[in-house]
Amino acid sequence: MLLDAPVVPLLPRPLILPPKKSTPPAFYIADAGLKGAGLFAAEDIPTGAVILVDRPIAVVPSNVNAHWKREAFDALLPRISQISRETLLALANCKPLSECPVVEGIALTNATGIYLSAPPSVAPQEYGGVFPLVCRANHSCGLNIAVKWDLPSFSVSMYALRPFRAGEEIYNQYIDVLAPRAERRAHLARYGFVCMCSHCDLPDEEAVTRSDAARAELRDWHQLHPRFLPWSTDMCRADDAIIVSNLRALALIEQEGLHGMRVPFIEEIALSYAVLGDEPRFREWAQQVVDFCAGQDPERATKFAGWIAHPRSYKQWGWRAKQRQLLDKQKEPADVDISIPW
Ligand SMILES: [Zn+2]
Repeated sequence: MLLDAPVVPLLPRPLILPPKKSTPPAFYIADAGLKGAGLFAAEDIPTGAVILVDRPIAVVPSNVNAHWKREAFDALLPRISQISRETLLALANCKPLSECPVVEGIALTNATGIYLSAPPSVAPQEYGGVFPLVCRANHSCGLNIAVKWDLPSFSVSMYALRPFRAGEEIYNQYIDVLAPRAERRAHLARYGFVCMCSHCDLPDEEAVTRSDAARAELRDWHQLHPRFLPWSTDMCRADDAIIVSNLRALALIEQEGLHGMRVPFIEEIALSYAVLGDEPRFREWAQQVVDFCAGQDPERATKFAGWIAHPRSYKQWGWRAKQRQLLDKQKEPADVDISIPW
């Protein structure tokens, strides 16, 4: 492993084993046409499953110019094992030699942001990790995986954000995918390609405008749409306000292939049904949270699984339904004694 000296005290001790990989691997590396090599699903993979676990072959500062001498990249190269060196040098390099040394170019092309910290001394510090498998995934503005860094095991796990068919290409994101297409393409120019993913290669300007508008709406969602917490106790709002609004978000997410954004919206729909005391629908949506989060966010999955087992253990269970009944009762005309007393 190639390390910046200040990283050493930030390394986890003891280093625990990373999560178990699937055997045989659920992925393979193959030719992806004009994109060069790419990562592909070796089998059908369900949503939420771990596709691979990867450890960095190099750790570099996130801001190269700040405190890292360029020559240090190449000076450290002979210090790593032959197999690591060969793996590292086989990775893509979008930087010309006239601009920077080869290892620096490879690091700049492939590094993923990771956080290191040595508690209790310092706040987490950002570094770049070069993960030899993760960085094989090409970019798409409709990525289909999520990558989660785990400091104690010094590894990242890659999760499926939607079901894969065997042979399908696995896509990561290299830039902010909520930006408009023109901005995305400008940012990707530093990797030396024009993005022709299915969300960029659109038939006409009308489609581009529609896609850009959907991404802008998702980015600013909470400034534009009702929020769950205020809604949950505000009886002036329609009972289905959050459900209707979040179903629209999910439709936009589906349209743009931004599957990684789904969970918070699904979670709010489930909790809306909990506040409305609708048990069948609550179970249906809560189960989706469990399915999506089982691998990536087990704490959240366990919390929702507990509520599925005992829906009424949710603190606000049926609160709006009870309030609505009381309000409807108040609206009922009072019994008036219209009998004439004579
Ligand atoms: Zn694209």
